[in-house]
Amino acid sequence: MAHATRCGLRPCGWGVSRRLGPYLDAVGLALDDYALAPMETLVIEGLRARTPLLTIEKPRLVRDLVRTVRVHRRFLAPPEAGEFDLVVDATGIARALLPPCRSDLVMRTLQCRVRAEGPGDRLPGPAVRGSAVPGFGYTWAFPLGGTDYHVGVGAIGPADLETLLERSLRGWAGGGPRLARCCACGGAVRVSSPYYATPFFSRRPPGDGGPRLVVGAGESIGTVGPFTGEGILPSLECARLLADRLGDPEGYTRAVLARFGWMRGERETLDRLLAAGGGGALGLRDRWRFYRNARRSGIRLPLAEAVREAGRLSRWVDGPGR
Ligand SMILES: Cc1cc2nc3c(=O)[nH]c(=O)nc-3n(C[C@H](O)[C@H](O)[C@H](O)COP(=O)(O)OP(=O)(O)OC[C@H]3O[C@@H](n4cnc5c(N)ncnc54)[C@H](O)[C@@H]3O)c2cc1C
Repeated sequence: MAHATRCGLRPCGWGVSRRLGPYLDAVGLALDDYALAPMETLVIEGLRARTPLLTIEKPRLVRDLVRTVRVHRRFLAPPEAGEFDLVVDATGIARALLPPCRSDLVMRTLQCRVRAEGPGDRLPGPAVRGSAVPGFGYTWAFPLGGTDYHVGVGAIGPADLETLLERSLRGWAGGGPRLARCCACGGAVRVSSPYYATPFFSRRPPGDGGPRLVVGAGESIGTVGPFTGEGILPSLECARLLADRLGDPEGYTRAVLARFGWMRGERETLDRLLAAGGGGALGLRDRWRFYRNARRSGIRLPLAEAVREAGRLSRWVDGPGR
């Protein structure tokens, strides 16, 4: 579906892990052909983390992925919908075909693409910061190659995203180069976790005009890291699980819940944080979960430094002033 964004895609930071590579190899594409800028060092709340992350030219990758299969575009409305035995709801945040999630949780986002104008040697590096966002949320700055960056903010709750974004742009660039805005887009990301985004499928009686079976895949069923908003790789992992179990929605449900069980823990940490109106309710386990799940994505926070800087790190989860 076309989007009213300059890149034509749904808003996204375009940051991925190198672990995306094998998924592209499988369809004859190469990750390095789409690489824009490495993020081997990412500053997370002042801590320098080693990461396997990079940014990719996602619009071109999506176009090329679509070219690897034959696509027949059809509207999915009755009575035509009834012709299909199986329809996959891969409509992301829209979840256009499945019934609502049992407990949805959505983070609102605002992102812009900026171009740094000024001396190249003063360009700021990639960074993620949470302490400026009330409740739960964070800002990010991802390099896109040359002097372009995606700078964005995501928040759960009534935060003023435009003000936060403006503040983040000023703080991140510091006294460095002038930042010219190229485009901006508002969006949302489902941080419910798959466990709270069930059901993953719905069956219909024959003859009611709809497809017999609708099965969700990707963000429509919550395969997004609730702490980080990382959804590209988990959604491909989810699609692989579905491809291996096309005729078995119950088995698919079990496989998704098992594969992404760690997302449930992150979601429940968010619930505790939001219910208490701040990080006071967070226990040691929640903080350890943050550290451990960062390592799951290959993000290596320096443990010694993280312990020394524990106050700052926990504010990433706790929100300001705690
Ligand atoms: C601001 C922002 C930044 C993000 N940054 C990152 C990042 O850096 N790295 C990362 O890994 N993840 C990021 N994410 C999350 C990531 O973009 C998504 O989780 C991921 O793209 C999900 O893939 P998907 O294929 O499930 O859904 P989507 O990529 O959302 O694709 C769903 C598609 O379905 C289409 N659609 C919707 N309704 C219908 C309908 N009724 N009929 C037909 N088509 C329909 C949509 O137009 C869309 O093209 C970000 C999200 C946001 C909002």
